[in-house]
Amino acid sequence: MTEGARVHSRVVVTTSWDDGHRLDDRLAGLLDRYGMAGTFYIAPHNVEIAARDRLSPAGVRELAERFEIGGHTLTHQRLPRLTDSAAADEIRAGKEELEGTVGTAVTSFCYPRGEYTAAHIDSARAVGFRRARTVRRNSLAAGPPLELPTTVHACAHRVDAPVALRLARLRPRTAAKLFLQWDELALGWFDLCLERGGVFHLWGHSWEIDAHRDWHRLERVLTHISGHPGISYLSNRNLPDLAQP
Ligand SMILES: [Zn+2]
Repeated sequence: MTEGARVHSRVVVTTSWDDGHRLDDRLAGLLDRYGMAGTFYIAPHNVEIAARDRLSPAGVRELAERFEIGGHTLTHQRLPRLTDSAAADEIRAGKEELEGTVGTAVTSFCYPRGEYTAAHIDSARAVGFRRARTVRRNSLAAGPPLELPTTVHACAHRVDAPVALRLARLRPRTAAKLFLQWDELALGWFDLCLERGGVFHLWGHSWEIDAHRDWHRLERVLTHISGHPGISYLSNRNLPDLAQP
């Protein structure tokens, strides 16, 4: 951010972290250090994570003392590959198990791999979820409550040229890096959010950050986006609801 630049009157920062891997502990420690709000979306019996690498119920409870816990289905199936009723069962059972673990209502949800249909939105709403996050990137919009977009995935992607060009106007010297490095991309989007207002939403997976040795990138982003006066740091459940202005 430019020295002396005014923070837009409505800037919201949120983060969310998927899957319920034991490395979520490490990630939570970093968020704590930077005073960052966040939501951990947990599939208690995630078939894509070895049982020994999943967060234990005690680990989930410990996270829940400092962060929002969100639903991510029971076993992390790809919902469109299931019948609508089996998908609805996955969505409901994951919520019930987490609520049994943490002892409070779980009201935010995340579609596994961001794959969903209108039927899954209805199922999420029917069991009492009030927010549901997608994996759509490059947005500063609040978005529909049950189809929340995100800004940046903490993982390298090939950046769309229009996105890079838009951000390059703000950070010309680092424009080239935007194509490769998600931390540069995050800084660019955050600075744009400061200027224009909006919701900056960083999301990712602790296991992925670890596999890519990206912890220093995450720390760099947290250093940049934390501690700004006038910014609301919110968990996903507290994001502004466009339906209720
Ligand atoms: Zn997931």
